[in-house]
Amino acid sequence: MDGQSQSVSAPVLVLLGPPGAGKGTQARLLQERFGLVQLSTGDLLRGAVARGTEAGRAARKVMDAGGLVSDEIVLAVLGERLDQPDVSDGVILDGFPRTEAQAEALDGVLAQRGMKVGAAVALTVDDTAMVERISGRHAFAACGEGFHDSFKPPAAPGVCDACGGTELTRRSDDKAETVAARLEAYRAQTAPLIEHFARRGVLLRVDAMRPIDDVALSLGGIVRALEN
Ligand code: AMP
Repeated sequence: MDGQSQSVSAPVLVLLGPPGAGKGTQARLLQERFGLVQLSTGDLLRGAVARGTEAGRAARKVMDAGGLVSDEIVLAVLGERLDQPDVSDGVILDGFPRTEAQAEALDGVLAQRGMKVGAAVALTVDDTAMVERISGRHAFAACGEGFHDSFKPPAAPGVCDACGGTELTRRSDDKAETVAARLEAYRAQTAPLIEHFARRGVLLRVDAMRPIDDVALSLGGIVRALEN
């Protein structure tokens, strides 16, 4: 990060990286450790789909095909979430922005709420590892805590460490056919945003092939620097 980096009282951290890079896992850890709010547009959209809202109905097909939901819908769900009072302690944007238009809109969306991007972190990973990472992941239905068959198995097989639940869920778009489309959408539309944030002087890169706790330590250092 160069001398133009922005330090704000409520940190706003953008996590960039392909599906499977660990954005959700790391955002959750930062939420637990620093009290920042994980703001995942994927989770917000899945919530809208589950509730059967108009936005959810429009988003469902696109998500199941591994494409990107329209900027209009994504900006609407994001704005609604940013209007809730808990975000004033700072947010981690997980899965947003994903297009140049979203990145351009982000400044205005944050400025309206007295916030701005403090750092954008590109979680760097080997392309070949992504499918393996995505295909093994699952969560427990009761609390949503995420696990991975190989990289983060629950301590007791089939039982959630966090809530003791046993009902497993896997994301419907984590199927091999859909993962390829999601990776393609990432390469074509989202990877160029790394340059966007580099030009703005707020980009940092973190090697996300390392164990989860090591990556979390690097990100924790970045959050602390933003808070000072
Ligand atoms: P994620 O949970 O971040 O992997 O997102 C799951 C799916 O939600 C993506 O494959 C997209 O279809 C949709 N989605 C999430 N965030 C965005 C976004 N910022 N822009 C467009 N589509 C999104």
